[in-house]
Amino acid sequence: MQKAIKKVVIVGGGTAGWISAALLKKVVGSPIDVELVESESIGTVGVGEATIPPIRLLNNVLGVNESEFLTKTKGTIKLGIQFENWRVQGENYFHSFGAAGKSMAFCHFHHFWQRAQALGLQSSLWDYDLNYLAAKAGKFAQINSKDPIIELPYAYHFDAGLYAKFLREISERMGVKRTEGLIEDVEQDNDSGFINALILKDGRKISGDLFIDCSGFRGLLIQQQLGTGFDDWSHWLPCDRAIAIPSERLTQTLPYTRSIAHSAGWQWRIPLQHRNGNGLVYSSQYYSQQQALDLLTNNLESQAIGEPNFIQFQTGRRRQQWSRNVVSVGLSSGFLEPLESTSIHLIQSAIVRLIHLFPHQGIKPVDVAEYNRQSKTEYEQIRDFIILHYHVNERTDSHFWRDLRNMEVPDSLRHKIELFRATGRLFREQNDLFLESSWLQVLLGQGIKPQDYHPIVNNLSEAKLFAMLRNIQAIKNEPLAKLPSHDDFLQSFCRQLN
Ligand code: FAD
Repeated sequence: MQKAIKKVVIVGGGTAGWISAALLKKVVGSPIDVELVESESIGTVGVGEATIPPIRLLNNVLGVNESEFLTKTKGTIKLGIQFENWRVQGENYFHSFGAAGKSMAFCHFHHFWQRAQALGLQSSLWDYDLNYLAAKAGKFAQINSKDPIIELPYAYHFDAGLYAKFLREISERMGVKRTEGLIEDVEQDNDSGFINALILKDGRKISGDLFIDCSGFRGLLIQQQLGTGFDDWSHWLPCDRAIAIPSERLTQTLPYTRSIAHSAGWQWRIPLQHRNGNGLVYSSQYYSQQQALDLLTNNLESQAIGEPNFIQFQTGRRRQQWSRNVVSVGLSSGFLEPLESTSIHLIQSAIVRLIHLFPHQGIKPVDVAEYNRQSKTEYEQIRDFIILHYHVNERTDSHFWRDLRNMEVPDSLRHKIELFRATGRLFREQNDLFLESSWLQVLLGQGIKPQDYHPIVNNLSEAKLFAMLRNIQAIKNEPLAKLPSHDDFLQSFCRQLN
């Protein structure tokens, strides 16, 4: 429809609604008015506490002061995720945001490490990863180094409710209008099917040119009104329920998330400044709600301090994430379970994509098609990465794990696993959110041992190979000694605000 976009209406004030409002207003700016409608009587999903490093870009664009951000959201630092009991019970591995070793021309570092292992090296790949070393030592500080070999990429854990409040303050300061009200009806153009206005319970009418549906799982506009359909991926990712419970903070705040596998799901532990976030993601085919609740409460590290929040979900994505003049963002656009903390990132990248394709002069079908094409690829790449964690396992204790091991996986993932198993080779698909270093850690961690390494590595003599590895390990360890503990960092960094 060739109608200039002057007014954007956002439906919902959860994390998706407020990130959308803040980013659109900040970047697209004065040519558009932004109004956000939310209803306190419905509330938000109330979870979503772990993030991945691109969130720092979002904060930079919004001009966020990091110390203020961590203080107000009770945030902590996240250097990666520790996966416990995933391959087999009793074993752990780490998915760090860093990379082992250093980047080498033509051949990834892990091929050198593989050869050294074949020659008897005892060190694990993670011994060459500063993120892992700092996480395990409970240490953190920002490292400003021009040498990529000693970078320390990080993200955050935060309180989801406080984060939405923080973003609301930023948005309102920039001129976003917030309207409290329950949307009960929608006015739609008979010919084009475009949404003209939202009708609130008290009769108020909110008109707009472009609508961002951030209404959560219900998909108020994208599904209930426009019926765009859903690609259900629960045959690959069968978890469909979650329970979240906060508990008292521990004496030490770890700078990483813990993901602990159980017989039919997994549990998260997210350390915040004022409390711990805990939750169980599980399949309702295997646990009743009561069994799941007992499992979670029996596995808390500290006293529960709130009521459990029970959540049902379906894994998959809306077939058309942009349809007519509605763009769905956040849970209304699809959901991939929180194993790799990707949902908040998907909100950010949806809005960045919308900004790239922003229909200033009116909505063109070709822009809509491009938006939907890119969103589909992004979702499918993340889906494959998450399936990998479940599919490649050696657990024998339940049907859940056996079924996941024996299932047919998407061809894209099968190929990646086979290539790595046979040759140790890994390639990042274009725009894949997860780099080779992420795939590598999970492939190895879940138990795939490559049968070969790149022959280019044999050009180094054995002595030079071991000297190189010793040298890298020393360089990685050098900054570690100078890092403060994560708790000391938070205390002094957050104090800077006062
Ligand atoms: P919601 O929070 O549900 O917000 C919906 C909004 O729409 C509310 O403001 C509501 O009032 C409004 N609304 C709905 N209907 C109406 C109506 N009729 N009238 C007016 N207003 C209406 N993501 C991560 O990145 N990291 C994590 O660690 C993580 N963990 C998660 C764990 C679980 C168990 C789940 C389920 C999700 C997790 N997520 C995580 C995802 C994350 O919680 C969501 O992506 C994020 O909170 C965005 O939610 P939302 O804003 O789309 O929806």
